[in-house]
Amino acid sequence: MIDTTRSSRISGFHKKSPAERLGIVSDFAGLDAAAAARLSDTGNLDLGLADRLVENVIGSMNIPLGIATNMRVDGEDVLIPMATEESSVVAAVCNAARQCYDAGGFTTSMSGTLMIAQIQAVDVADPHAARLRILGRREEIKVICDGCDPVLLSFGGGFRDVEVRVLDSQSGPMLVTHLIVDTRDAMGANAVNSMAEALAPHISAWTGGRVYLRILSNLADRRLARAHAVWPLDQIGGEAVRDGIVSAYHFAAADPYRAATHNKGIMNGVSAVVLATGNDTRAVEAGAHAFAARSGQYGSLTRFEVTADGQLSGSIELPMAVGLIGGATKAHPTAQACLKILGVTSAERLARIIAAVGLAQNFSALKALATTGIQKGHMALHAQNIAMMAGAVGDEIDRVAAVLVERGSVRQDIAQAVLQDLRGGAAGA
Ligand code: NAD
Repeated sequence: MIDTTRSSRISGFHKKSPAERLGIVSDFAGLDAAAAARLSDTGNLDLGLADRLVENVIGSMNIPLGIATNMRVDGEDVLIPMATEESSVVAAVCNAARQCYDAGGFTTSMSGTLMIAQIQAVDVADPHAARLRILGRREEIKVICDGCDPVLLSFGGGFRDVEVRVLDSQSGPMLVTHLIVDTRDAMGANAVNSMAEALAPHISAWTGGRVYLRILSNLADRRLARAHAVWPLDQIGGEAVRDGIVSAYHFAAADPYRAATHNKGIMNGVSAVVLATGNDTRAVEAGAHAFAARSGQYGSLTRFEVTADGQLSGSIELPMAVGLIGGATKAHPTAQACLKILGVTSAERLARIIAAVGLAQNFSALKALATTGIQKGHMALHAQNIAMMAGAVGDEIDRVAAVLVERGSVRQDIAQAVLQDLRGGAAGA
């Protein structure tokens, strides 16, 4: 039944304090005092800071932070903080990293820290000639862009190049200018957006067209992070496992339905570190998926092959627009602590470690899928979640989960029955 007595038109909601907003929301949704108290318990995030980070704050949503062990990246051991709500994600990275640790772990590289900003111009009478007019003003463009961000310049960043494309669109030719900017240790969205906005009136004047959009591209393909690892046969369980993993990769490379799930698994690892470090998960995810479709068919972000001496070789390449400066990274104390755990002092090192985590995650998922199936590894933690959904609390969670795993049937109805037995037994005892 539709409730017509409640209105979401709340005038001045944004001007109220978090506590006042929570009161309004509690009345609207019929939250009891316990639910409201839980929402307003912001844990390790100061409520005032939360209120400055986003709009209309009423509380915070806490996500577990786990540490992946066994990772060695470019010869250095590193502990990986991962913020995720999904079970098995952290364990998958630990397992994959353990199986290639003695062989040297992960080697990584990066194409650079260049971001792209786009400026869209329409109604340009002579788009191809206008393109050349823009390209001819490269030095002028550099001065305008660099003038926007002297701080970025002082850290060695700034304008690097300009490219202009003439796009065929449904509304006719569109002139799209790309600013290539080195954003160093910043993710760079604000930095390049400011440059695009500053340059826009000039583009309009030089082309005689109208400028609409001025914003970065999340397809950050000048900022590719790469990681590689070799898993020795004796570590992974032999040739059959190796061949199963390679075949799983071939499946993803050939089929977008499979590739979507394959890459989702990679992003389980990637997004968890991106989130833990206060970076923009959506920016990295958009870049990864767009990059995976760059050939025209959506495919795998990783590749698995067999080396000349028969070992399993895995590699990954994906855009990685993450920073140490700006956004929630600088403001959120947990993000700062996570960067300290990682021991990173540059955005490049962070990006390279994240690529290695994505590869590790994918290795574990493919190995499980090609051998025992994914559910076995998921079972223990999944059973705990199901036990909690069935109402188990405290010690009951482990006890109910253990029974579910033992029976090989992790279902909520069974969990409820087990819980009832347990409580009945305890009451009778
Ligand atoms: P920012 O503007 O907060 O910080 C970057 C600035 O810090 C630089 O421009 C520079 O002036 C300064 N700086 C200081 N030390 C630096 C160093 N060592 N290297 C580089 N710069 C240094 O942040 P940002 O990185 O420009 O923007 C990131 C934020 O933008 C994120 O919160 C993201 O969510 C948001 N955002 C994303 C999108 C998108 O992805 N589509 C769009 C808009 C905003």
